[in-house]
Amino acid sequence: MICKYSWSRYYDRINRLENAFSFWWTPGHQTKMMLFTTKQYLKLIPAKCTDFIQPANVFFFRQFKTMVKFITDTLIVSSNVKVWHRDNFLRIQSFVYSQFSANRFQNLLRFAFFKCGYASEHPGRFQTPSEYCFESGLTEVCFKGDCGQLAFIRCAHCEKCLCFDHSLVLDLHVH
Ligand SMILES: [Zn+2]
Ligand SMILES: [Zn+2]
Repeated sequence: MICKYSWSRYYDRINRLENAFSFWWTPGHQTKMMLFTTKQYLKLIPAKCTDFIQPANVFFFRQFKTMVKFITDTLIVSSNVKVWHRDNFLRIQSFVYSQFSANRFQNLLRFAFFKCGYASEHPGRFQTPSEYCFESGLTEVCFKGDCGQLAFIRCAHCEKCLCFDHSLVLDLHVH
């Protein structure tokens, strides 16, 4: 689960959110907990409540799926890439995951916790990954050498504009 360690580091105490599955309570996870020096609080999310108080369910996954769907739909319409081929599907997932891990989206993650009531401070205005990466009016050309194709995405990490080929098809642009 993405949020387990990376999300919680934005707070000076660690709130571990666990779904109501004993699955997570493996010796490995307990060992990882021992490495933290901050106080830890375990909060169990009751069964069937994840849609209301699990930050990933409440706000994160929808954003993630929106970007995957936009890329998939655009590839289907404008290329002959077989998007449902396992390798291509995984490339898209890896690419989107990499974009979401950019520092500029920290407030999106904070907002997910705020929306569920785990944080009291609103993180402030932020752009969603889809808004930033597929900004309307993105008319620049791909930054790669003499590519010259119209850009399809602005990378959330390096802020460079990339065409399909150099983001997903020929190269896999991940950070
Ligand atoms: Zn980049
Ligand atoms: Zn290109």
